[in-house]
This record gives sequence, structure tokens and C-alpha cells, in this order.
Amino acid sequence: MEIGRNDLCPCGSGKKFKNCCIDKIDTKKVKGSEQRLNKQTEAIMATCLVSSMEVLKDKFEFTQEQLGKFADEYIFTLQKKLKK
Ligand SMILES: [Zn+2]
Repeated sequence: MEIGRNDLCPCGSGKKFKNCCIDKIDTKKVKGSEQRLNKQTEAIMATCLVSSMEVLKDKFEFTQEQLGKFADEYIFTLQKKLKK
């Protein structure tokens, strides 16, 4: 799986990749190595997840437990998407 600059960011933010996490990944370095790209993508997702969770915590006053469940579901969904 390769992420294009204008594709939606894999972190699920709804933004274009170039406007979101592109700085967090060196696409040239990972080109041609699908396995490494997936690892990078997972790292991005984790980073973005943490920032999303901060927002959720502030805006909606989620508890740590709710955030934990949310994170599990979020990662599970994204991993399923990546395997397609
Ligand atoms: Zn992102």
C-alpha cells in the first residue's frame, strides 16, 4: 500500500496526507518496501491517535477507560483497512 500526497491520511483525520502526517513519514525511504511502509503507517496512526485522543479528552471529557476502548477499536479498524 502506498500513500499518495493527495490521498486521505491513513490516520483517519479526514485530511489529505500532505496536510496531515506527511512530515512524519519519509515516503522515499520506505518506497519499495511494503512491510516497512506498513510499519511506518502504523507509527503514524499511533501518533495521530494520541493527538485525536487528546482532543476527545478535552472536548468531550472522555474517561481514560473510554479512551482506551476507543483506541483499541480505532487501531483494529485501521489494521483491517490496511490488510485489504
Ligand atoms: Zn494524519
